[in-house]
Amino acid sequence: MKKISILGATGSIGTQTLDVIRKSDDIELVGITANTSVIKVIEIIEEFNPKFVGMMEKEAYYKILEYVNTNKKNIVVLEGIDGLNKIASLDEIDIVVTSVVGMIGLEPTLKAIRAKKDIALANKETLVVAGELVMKEAKENNVKILPVDSEHSAIFQSLRGNTLSELKKVILTASGGPFRGKKINDLKDIKVKDALNHPNWSMGQKITIDSSTLMNKGLEVIEAHFLFDCPYDNIQVVVHPQSIIHSMVEYKDNSIIAQLGSPDMRLPIQYALNYPKRKNEIANKIDFWEISKLTFEKPDLDTFKCLKLAYKVGKEGKLMPTILNGANEALVDIFLQEKINYLQIGDIIEECLEIFKKEGNEEVTLENVIELDKKVKEYVYNKYN
Ligand code: NDP
Ligand code: MG
Repeated sequence: MKKISILGATGSIGTQTLDVIRKSDDIELVGITANTSVIKVIEIIEEFNPKFVGMMEKEAYYKILEYVNTNKKNIVVLEGIDGLNKIASLDEIDIVVTSVVGMIGLEPTLKAIRAKKDIALANKETLVVAGELVMKEAKENNVKILPVDSEHSAIFQSLRGNTLSELKKVILTASGGPFRGKKINDLKDIKVKDALNHPNWSMGQKITIDSSTLMNKGLEVIEAHFLFDCPYDNIQVVVHPQSIIHSMVEYKDNSIIAQLGSPDMRLPIQYALNYPKRKNEIANKIDFWEISKLTFEKPDLDTFKCLKLAYKVGKEGKLMPTILNGANEALVDIFLQEKINYLQIGDIIEECLEIFKKEGNEEVTLENVIELDKKVKEYVYNKYN
């Protein structure tokens, strides 16, 4: 029996992970965490009976504690980041699914690695802000980082049986999001509901906005750089609107190996949780007659500047990606509250990269990342919220 914790069990990836567990007979859910979603957590307790529950927010923590006491459940309830850290590193677990949103996932991920737990990594912001540190500690502790992000899972699967030294480049596919083909002028009046309307995937709000600006692909370029130790010039983004090819790798003999599947996150989640085994079908089959054609386009880096900025900070290294990520997390939140317009997301990120460039040159340590992330977010919230 494989024993797991899910950080962010109430979100889009968390909920789909629960479905994978529901359909498996050899995975036991030991710990879960959430931020404020009390009702969803109670539903998970009723169905899965985990031994540990962590709530980030105080009020939600007290509500779950009261529920557990009233119903005489034998569950340990924990609060705040210490709770997340503890649930990520429990003695009894083998693997942690990191599906919280944002760089808040960094500290618990490091705690899990130091406790020698394998990581099923959905929380890409963690690798963006501290990829160097996370990969180094994973290697030192002999821990596997198993990608859940569909593109990285596709690359991981396409690499099996080959070695990284035979790799020429990785090709990340992108759906192009809801505004594919649009120009700056068309994007001036974009409303929140338009940006939340993704053509192929149903996901949490933050990643849905990131997909529309192509920041999601930018974060994934940095994620791929660290996961596969691949130079930025060897990471190519190809727009592929059908989202059937989840990504590809090109080898030194120009052979390309790809992974295809229907757009369903349960597939990469199941693969990560059972690696190196493959389990029975969980997503719909691909019907080639129905799809009939797969198409490819170049990304428009002038209109979607977030992708261009991500390549730039990735190449600059150090804490530059922390500035990009921190500004983006704050700006997506402010955009969702309709306090800035859509195009300001990219513009203000650029402003932050200029303002904090001195701090961006510091070493990547947990303390430096947390401090700079806080500084950047304070700047953005004070000026634009
Ligand atoms: P959601 O917004 O749907 O879920 C986020 C989860 O994290 C919820 O359980 C939420 O709890 C919890 N959470 C939110 N804020 C905090 C906080 N400050 N402290 C602790 N916990 C918090 O996000 P997604 O599931 O869409 O995405 C999760 C991660 O996976 C992201 O990094 C995303 O980029 C990545 N990812 C997602 C994909 C998808 O298809 N959704 C695909 C590939 C990657 P609560 O419910 O209480 O708010
Ligand atoms: Mg992805």
